[in-house]
Amino acid sequence: MEKKEQLYEGKAKQVFATDDPNLIIMHYKDDATAYNGIKKAQIKDKGELNNKITTIIYSYLAKNGIPTHYIKTLNEREELCKKVKIFPLEVIVRNYIAGSMSKRLDIPEGTKPSNVIYELCYKNDALGDPLINDHHAVAVGACTYEDLAVIYDLTKKINLLLIDLFKSVGIILVDFKIEFGRTNDGEIVLADEISPDTARLWDEKTHDKLDKDRFRRDLGHVSEAYQEIYARLERLAA
Ligand code: 5GP
Repeated sequence: MEKKEQLYEGKAKQVFATDDPNLIIMHYKDDATAYNGIKKAQIKDKGELNNKITTIIYSYLAKNGIPTHYIKTLNEREELCKKVKIFPLEVIVRNYIAGSMSKRLDIPEGTKPSNVIYELCYKNDALGDPLINDHHAVAVGACTYEDLAVIYDLTKKINLLLIDLFKSVGIILVDFKIEFGRTNDGEIVLADEISPDTARLWDEKTHDKLDKDRFRRDLGHVSEAYQEIYARLERLAA
């Protein structure tokens, strides 16, 4: 497998072509951004930790029947993945209220709603990734209604699997963001990372935040929180 030119550079990752048109290499950086890129920093070892955490989570999801872009981990910062065309959508799942929903609707963080909340955001930096609904997503050409049916079906299954996984290591899965893509074969698969950058993870007993909110809210011990998530998942995977 030969690494070729960079195809894309995002806030936390780079994507490289390979000599196989169906495969790419994802490279995890230590860069962290928040508030649509206004706040920027480097978090020590974040790239390595998110690579390791995503590897454990994706392997678990694949074992449980979720189609994903992940093929294998190449080294401390890189994964080999299927090349996909990413839907310009962030799919957000909320098991507890926090973050933007807490602010927007003035509901205290940590409130458990009677239902699971699904949100879509339109991935568009210039617009600040606005919250949209299914009909907007279809209208802007991000996907079809048929794609959305597959995406929601997978998202519900992924949520149940992730709740169980984190519960088994003493962590509450408060909310998370996932992305989907279409492979060259036309299959819709889970893509991108699942890590403390993309999920709110609270310790079950203390409700300590073990995720990117430590960076967003200047709570300190950011790298240590990511390390803690990895340590717990690694013990389980071992
Ligand atoms: P909120 O809408 O409350 O800010 O975020 C909800 C969940 O989705 C959180 O777990 C947050 O980490 C994740 N999330 C939302 N937007 C983004 C984003 O642009 N990048 C990343 N990495 N995560 C996001």
